[in-house]
Amino acid sequence: NVSVVLFTSDLRVHDHPPLRAALGRGNEVVPLFVRDPAVARAGHAAPNRDAFLADCLAALDSALRERGGRLVVRSGDPVAEVCAVVREADADEVHMAAGCSGFARRREDRLRRALEADGRRLYVHDAVVTALPTGAVTPGGSDHYAVFTPYFRRWSRERLREPLAAPRVVRTPRGIRSEDLPARANVQSVSGGLAAGGEQEGRKRLAAWLAEDVDTYEERHDDLAGDATSRLSPYLHFGAVSAAEAVHRARSRGGAGAEAFVRQLCWRDFHHQVLAARPDAASDDYRTRHDRWRRGTEAEADLRAWREGRTGYPVVDAAMRQLAHEGWMHNRGRLLTASFLTKTLYIDWREGARHFLELLVDGDLANNQLNWQWMAGTGTDSRPNRVLNPVTQAKRYDPEGAYVRRWVPELAGLEGPAVHEPWKLPGRERARYDYPDPMVELADGLARFRRARGQD
Ligand code: FAD
Repeated sequence: NVSVVLFTSDLRVHDHPPLRAALGRGNEVVPLFVRDPAVARAGHAAPNRDAFLADCLAALDSALRERGGRLVVRSGDPVAEVCAVVREADADEVHMAAGCSGFARRREDRLRRALEADGRRLYVHDAVVTALPTGAVTPGGSDHYAVFTPYFRRWSRERLREPLAAPRVVRTPRGIRSEDLPARANVQSVSGGLAAGGEQEGRKRLAAWLAEDVDTYEERHDDLAGDATSRLSPYLHFGAVSAAEAVHRARSRGGAGAEAFVRQLCWRDFHHQVLAARPDAASDDYRTRHDRWRRGTEAEADLRAWREGRTGYPVVDAAMRQLAHEGWMHNRGRLLTASFLTKTLYIDWREGARHFLELLVDGDLANNQLNWQWMAGTGTDSRPNRVLNPVTQAKRYDPEGAYVRRWVPELAGLEGPAVHEPWKLPGRERARYDYPDPMVELADGLARFRRARGQD
């Protein structure tokens, strides 16, 4: 028998339930990836993710070849392409991971119907993209958890499935047409500091992280300059590293750092279960706060300055420039730049989320849109009106100013925490730095936001 495995956000051979099930009866397997032009049409393609994806596909193909198989790549509508491959290979079943977004769900439904009409079956596997299946735990009276802490408590008590070893042999039938794999070198406009993708790279990073660095995670995860987080997010986003396996390995490793890391992995599951239950939250407010976000020419100019990292608040600009350069931003930077845009500038979270999705190598609908909503106060945060003061944040999370000096070279001559408030320098010294004045007074931004939210 022949089975097809449709890879989506699960580009790995380790801990891969669909691949394991497809191989189950000694089957030949066609591992398939379909490049769907609708992703780009919907505005969800980005050069950084395209480049990282190319690495992941190359790594997956080489892992399959080591086992005797190979990856088949096609472009087009995934339903049409899967059906075509099924016919070419005369396969009787297709296996894939359950998705969380509305887009993924619709694709699944269309594929199921098309295959069934042709007398074949689709098997959709849970807990491939997330550690716990979305919807596996729910509070009484609702289809999802809207508050993180009770979700975390419940999630922590659930038994996760055991991680699966990579298969030793994968046999792929001959003669199935495949396009060339996309090459990273052909992707234009990639951030200079983008990490290398792929399962081998991700597994190496996970192993190194758990071997040592995780121990300092609890104390140092907010240290902007220390950069002491796992940087596993793009590997998790593309499924090059399995979330379930990461949780298992961190738990068996043990220690306060590993526990704090597991808690962050639970945040990932949390947002995915919100999006799975409320797919509209990718674009609509999860909770309406009656915001009338600023629009028009002035707001557009402010948005541009924020995007380009020239707000005049050094820590905000540093974080925005890290994003442009690496296609990744420290979580503390994401929090304070999102607060600055939505609360200090009072600009719609969708504008910020769109810019992040254009650049983030880990950019995904569940984590990006729902973290944006969390920070904008339209999401699941129980303190929707909290505003992060960028100067206080900078002094707390970049006390020596090293993060700012790294990303804002115009200010590199300023020593220590003085780098966070260049506007306080005496006139002649201030003039030496080619760096803008703050685009808005924090007190004015705060007053505007409080008025808008009826908090006067
Ligand atoms: P670590 O601190 O090492 O955490 C380990 C893993 O836990 C991460 O790789 C990630 O998978 C998960 N995680 C950690 N924090 C969160 C969180 N708040 N929500 C969900 N998962 C989390 N993360 C994305 O993966 N994709 C996004 O598009 C994304 N957009 C964000 C937008 C905003 C405005 C904010 C505030 C946060 C966003 N995050 C996003 C969450 C978080 O910032 C990143 O996951 C994290 O910075 C990645 O770095 P790391 O792998 O070193 O994280």
